[in-house]
Amino acid sequence: MNYRFLFLLIFILLATSGWPIFVLAGKTDPGVPVLLYHRITKDREVPLDSCCVLPEKNFDEQIDYLYRQGYQTINSTQLYNYITKNKPIPMKSVVLSFDDSYASDYEIVFPTLKKYGYTGVFFAITGDMVKNKKSAGRIKEMAEAKMDIESHTVNHYYLGGGKLSGGVRSLTASVLLADHELWDSRQYLEKALDKKIKFLAWPGDSYNERLVALAKEDGYIGLFMAKPSRTNNIFSSGYNQGQNSFNVYPSDPFYLKRINIDNSVTFEMFKNLMTTGHLVYE
Ligand SMILES: [Zn+2]
Repeated sequence: MNYRFLFLLIFILLATSGWPIFVLAGKTDPGVPVLLYHRITKDREVPLDSCCVLPEKNFDEQIDYLYRQGYQTINSTQLYNYITKNKPIPMKSVVLSFDDSYASDYEIVFPTLKKYGYTGVFFAITGDMVKNKKSAGRIKEMAEAKMDIESHTVNHYYLGGGKLSGGVRSLTASVLLADHELWDSRQYLEKALDKKIKFLAWPGDSYNERLVALAKEDGYIGLFMAKPSRTNNIFSSGYNQGQNSFNVYPSDPFYLKRINIDNSVTFEMFKNLMTTGHLVYE
């Protein structure tokens, strides 16, 4: 048996065994999309034109599409290792992230991800976990099932100030308050979940250079931003709309790009986004 044949045989065995075939990222690599979801709803539960809401049937359609296209989900650490160290990840990788710990995380998203063998990154507001024991228990259960739980601060203040909309408390944070929001949320989650917390998503995408520096001091190794969608114009410091929305190697882990998916994103737009890296409104 010559070596070429042996390599071919191993490749075929791997390809047909269901094992992911890993690739090293190169210059032509399109990068990794990080999708951002908030509340997933059953029909007519909440107005669909409000910010950050997606009907369950649209969510199912998107996850089913990703699965049929051969996408595999990775967690925040795998994303970090890829964009900073070029560590191999599956050829078609995607990060599914969920902010604010809505009940739908546990009731709709968690069972759906399990059904597809997928994982998700859930950014939790720890002040809510303290107040709501049921929610805290659910988050713990999800962490035990290998879902990736990370920090979305203690109180969900918009730490960098900026453009704000109804009902959300805002402030330009003092260093002390920001430090409490960043540090204490990490400490709480590490204790509650018995794991290292290394990633944070900025509430309302509101941050500045000073806050990024503070988050680094507080032990975070990666920070997630959010790109605005049409109905969600509260995100004030989103990066340029014309830019590719995917995360490539090498890039700065303190400015991880996410794409906000809500009801303003049609299925055609979603498919186009996954193919091109651009969210284009019809
Ligand atoms: Zn949030």
